[in-house]
Amino acid sequence: MSKRVMNPAVRTAAVALATAGLGATLAAGAGSAFAAESKAAPVATTAAAAVKAQAEAQAKAAAQVKAAHAQAAKAKAAKAAQAAQVKAAAKKAAAKPAAAKKARGWVKPVTSYALSASYNQGGAMWAHKHSGQDFAVPVGTPVKAAGAGTVVKAGPNGGGDGPAYGNAIVVRHGNGTYSQYAHLSKIKVHIGQKVAAGQKIALSGNTGNSSGPHLHFEIRTTPNYGSAVNPMAFLRSHGVGI
Ligand SMILES: [Zn+2]
Repeated sequence: MSKRVMNPAVRTAAVALATAGLGATLAAGAGSAFAAESKAAPVATTAAAAVKAQAEAQAKAAAQVKAAHAQAAKAKAAKAAQAAQVKAAAKKAAAKPAAAKKARGWVKPVTSYALSASYNQGGAMWAHKHSGQDFAVPVGTPVKAAGAGTVVKAGPNGGGDGPAYGNAIVVRHGNGTYSQYAHLSKIKVHIGQKVAAGQKIALSGNTGNSSGPHLHFEIRTTPNYGSAVNPMAFLRSHGVGI
């Protein structure tokens, strides 16, 4: 027997194993087989040993593949469970604000603020007493409708109430209640538009007779200037912690 004769057999064995799907593990096995060729040991033994080694390697690879599959399946199951959990949590989170929104009829007109001039406060800024509550906020702060309603005034010159208010909005809520938002930098609604409680209707500003960036907020019993009531007392009596 010569190496020449056996070489194809070794190769055949290697090819057969490769066909069986050994993949990367086989590459090492095939390498060993070819290395064995250069040794003095009888080629038949070498070939047999190579085949055996490759068979073992194949079995090991198969076991590894099986384990990998099992692990992948496990990971997949875990991922699916996690996805289901995330989905359920998202559903719950989505349902919660909707329910909360439904339950609460009134909200703060701005989320983060410092209270400045209060209702009925006297001072040089106002012809009479201060007709609303001032919320000191940076220009561009989102202003929200304090309650659901319909926009009845929106524009410069206080929406018709006078230049002191700058850009202003008045929303009718029903039951003789109106809310007013003044000194706005940008109005995002139009007259006749229905708004939800908490809906962004404007950006705060410093327009009109204003001593600095803030939202002037009124609760009125009519759409017009002169019918304001204490807005803080109103909001508090409607469940708004302010
Ligand atoms: Zn004011």
